Amino acid sequence: MEKFKEIDYILEKQKKYFDSQITKNPDFRISQLDKLLNAIKKNEKFILKALKDDLQKCEFEAYETEIGVVISEIKSVRNKIKKWSKPKKVKTPALNIGSKSYIYNQPYGLCLIMAPWNYPFQLCMSPLIGSIIGGNCSVIKPSELAPNTSKVIKKIIDENFNEEYIWVAEGEIDTNQYLLKKDFDYIFFTGSPKVGKIVMEAAAKNLIPVTLELGGKSPCIVDKSSDLEISAKKIVWGKFLNAGQTCIAPDYVIAHKEIKSKLIENMKKYITKFYTNEPLKSNDYTSIISKNHFDRLISLIEYEKVVYGGNVDENNFKIEPTIINNVTVHDKVMSEEIFGPILPVLEFESFDDIVKIIDNHKNPLALYLFTNNSQFEKRIINTISFGGGCVNDTIMHITNHNMPFGGVGHSGMSSYHGKKSFETFSHQKSVMKSSKIDIPIKYPPYSEKAIKALKKAFEIF
Ligand code: NAD
Repeated sequence: MEKFKEIDYILEKQKKYFDSQITKNPDFRISQLDKLLNAIKKNEKFILKALKDDLQKCEFEAYETEIGVVISEIKSVRNKIKKWSKPKKVKTPALNIGSKSYIYNQPYGLCLIMAPWNYPFQLCMSPLIGSIIGGNCSVIKPSELAPNTSKVIKKIIDENFNEEYIWVAEGEIDTNQYLLKKDFDYIFFTGSPKVGKIVMEAAAKNLIPVTLELGGKSPCIVDKSSDLEISAKKIVWGKFLNAGQTCIAPDYVIAHKEIKSKLIENMKKYITKFYTNEPLKSNDYTSIISKNHFDRLISLIEYEKVVYGGNVDENNFKIEPTIINNVTVHDKVMSEEIFGPILPVLEFESFDDIVKIIDNHKNPLALYLFTNNSQFEKRIINTISFGGGCVNDTIMHITNHNMPFGGVGHSGMSSYHGKKSFETFSHQKSVMKSSKIDIPIKYPPYSEKAIKALKKAFEIF
């Protein structure tokens, strides 16, 4: 197609560049990371302005969740690239006596990174760090719904990197669709489960490996043994950060029947503390990305059950932090990922009640548990399948680069951050270097003695 000729041209160039082997050199990878770090620092005010224009993000949250995390991730991996890139020697079983075994980390080649709009800068940059440290070339497709951030990303990349190494493809969904038909070596997708399925289907046609970082309904369980002050404070922060447009935001609360009312009262108190009595006017409170999402969210509010909030500012697409009480799994608000500042509260009495509620939206991306009961904690962690989460906190597990971040089942596949990003963007190539010892019994014709020796050899590792 004429419109996408530039994409074909860039991919040709990237292929040649990758084949030149330059991106594999660990010193090259380090120098490119340094370049990215400097470029981000130099463009900080443009990034902040773009995030303000796209999402009304205040400076603190924009720096904390979009720029700061990226800087800290670059710093945490930079000095480890050489060590991680070296072939790793591993044990060799007795069957191959004398041989040596190594794992080589091999870059995939051309990686496609597709990002959503909710953390539009961070979710392009964080996978890019993985792609760079893995030694790949990259094409980034930012979300068309955050156009100002998309432009800044394009500017930063164009000014600092050769297009045959890293390139930004801006455009509408037809650009994504065109890119998905191309023969990339790896696809890293962050977005909704619905589009995740489209991406995986397209990747399957060319047998392209994928990482899918998806969403879902992340529960927040509050047990009667928990500290209700702390629980309320941390839930309110995690839920209303970025106006609930966070993939790992607590989607809904399941509170023990005996403490539910007290928890709700505490949550109301912290909403007012954080965003005043008029949250719609708070400079620290983000707006909803688009009219479509704004209307979708309003349609989820069942006003008879609202115990806090519910007001909206149509001109600025803002919705008050809203708590809905006495919700059941049959309510509309429980039918899909909310991805906005609406917090349904359900209740439980037994462990089975919790499992039944969560089973309606299996494999949540995150799970939060507020408890001081270690048996209960153990049972939840061992029984329920979820991507990752926190005990007595929300969101913060994502900030630890020593832990892989990703979903499971419906919330995604594969993971990244820190060393896991290096592994995700590298193929682990196993190579055995054979010794001169060539055991004769392994070759036909096989004797009785050979079978006995074979059986013994399999017993020893
Ligand atoms: P989305 O799936 O609508 O869009 C993501 C990307 O896919 C965008 O770049 C968009 O241009 C592209 N896209 C949209 N429709 C497409 C189509 N038909 N074909 C090809 N490409 C298409 O998601 P979104 O609305 O931007 O983001 C919200 C979702 O992302 C939520 O479900 C949220 O939980 C999830 N999310 C997950 C993570 C994570 O790390 N797991 C992080 C942020 C957001």
